[in-house]
Amino acid sequence: MKAETFRAYAHQAVDWMADYYQQIEQYPVKSQVKPGEILEQIPKHMPESGESMDEILKDFNEVIMPGITHWQHPNYHSYFPANTSFPSLLGEMLTAALGAQCMIWDTSPAAAELEEAMMNWLKEVMQLPSEWEGSIQSTASDATLNAILSAREKKTDFQINKNGFQGNEKFRVYCSSQTHSSIEKGAKIAGIGSANTVKVGVDESFAMKPDLLRKAIQEDIENGLTPLIVIAATGTTGSTAMDPLTELGEICQEFGIWFHVDAAYAGTAFLLPEFRDTQQGVELADSFVFNPHKWMFTNFDCTAYFVKDKGTLIRTFEILPEYLKTQFDQTVNNYRDWGIPLGRRFRALKLWFVMRNMGLSGMQEILRGHMTLTQDLVKKLEAHPDFEILAPVPLNLVCFRYKPTGMDEAQLNELNAQLVKSMNDGGEVYLTHTKLDGKYTLRVVIGQTYVQQKHVDKLWEILLSHTSTLTPAL
Ligand SMILES: *Cc1c(COP(=O)(O)O)cnc(C)c1O
Repeated sequence: MKAETFRAYAHQAVDWMADYYQQIEQYPVKSQVKPGEILEQIPKHMPESGESMDEILKDFNEVIMPGITHWQHPNYHSYFPANTSFPSLLGEMLTAALGAQCMIWDTSPAAAELEEAMMNWLKEVMQLPSEWEGSIQSTASDATLNAILSAREKKTDFQINKNGFQGNEKFRVYCSSQTHSSIEKGAKIAGIGSANTVKVGVDESFAMKPDLLRKAIQEDIENGLTPLIVIAATGTTGSTAMDPLTELGEICQEFGIWFHVDAAYAGTAFLLPEFRDTQQGVELADSFVFNPHKWMFTNFDCTAYFVKDKGTLIRTFEILPEYLKTQFDQTVNNYRDWGIPLGRRFRALKLWFVMRNMGLSGMQEILRGHMTLTQDLVKKLEAHPDFEILAPVPLNLVCFRYKPTGMDEAQLNELNAQLVKSMNDGGEVYLTHTKLDGKYTLRVVIGQTYVQQKHVDKLWEILLSHTSTLTPAL
């Protein structure tokens, strides 16, 4: 393709993007295709000679688009959002155009230095400890794995990195029964094992109970096991429960255990001073992760990972073959040593665009809007006799179920599963579920960049109309 052809199609693509966002509400939020439906429309073999962009874009519209779930639709209420914004899209386009592989300072000084600056901006606006140092990682899962590996190496004076496991290590990883699956996955990958991931019990707000953590640690020590790391959730995935950071952090200090805080979703709330009380004790953390790629209007992937001791992080990951040595290794950040991959995209650019274009007050306004809309939904649910809210709502995730009278728990579970399915099949809204205390729970997040009152009203209307069509198996 020649530059002039690219220019023409790029203009067309940008028009497509702007149209897409203007017309997004015309699409079913959740893709309605059946398994295999897309695959069978794609030729089994690569074409021998090149095809025109017109043909390719036509297939993009006709074959691919029906199989897309529209995460940027304002009635997207599932999982947690993966928000974009227009400034972020512009940043991503330019990052793609530069095509720079920013593994070390030398391979694009601006990428390394902008990343450092953006992590400092985030630290300041979120009021995180100023001595922490941050880097951009791909996902919270990677960052948590980094934390587990760093804890492992610090505990063994970097011996497992060097000599491998000796067979006498008996490490234990602690998190609550509500924390994200990435913790168990990290324990598996780090050679610690899912069987050594201790799921500590929670209180009625689904937050980890410090006394149960202490008990688990003491029992493990008595049994000759080595407590390695405690991972607290600031905003669990199930219900945005807030583990008590101060109490958990103090236990970690007492026993010399690495303290990692997973605020993957809820970290964005720290941009609001009135929500910072959930962050109390965060200064006790050895490492902290949150995802601007969830609720902070920045395209996936963009995870911010902060550590108290950069030295431990770098010693865990550093490897310096001759061909990667440069003149400035002592004075600059070479982010290849801050995590698992060598290669790195220029992800700080979109974050810079977003933070500058929206400004702190612009972001705060949207976030406060989400909180207000959420409280509106909470009020509607509370005022209705047939709904039950199943967890506290500290932020903008509401966990609830439909609970008409005269049904037992099994029937209620069945009924609510039907409700989620029928609402999602309708295509107008998209929500997901979880289980809390064995109860089938509807999860509704009001956090999409463009969600407004009318979308919450629509959600409510659809919810009510679908409850009347359910056929309980009695
Ligand atoms: C979403 C989430 C994760 C995983 O995030 P990825 O960036 O997709 O790895 C981890 N922990 C919590 C609490 C989350 O909400």
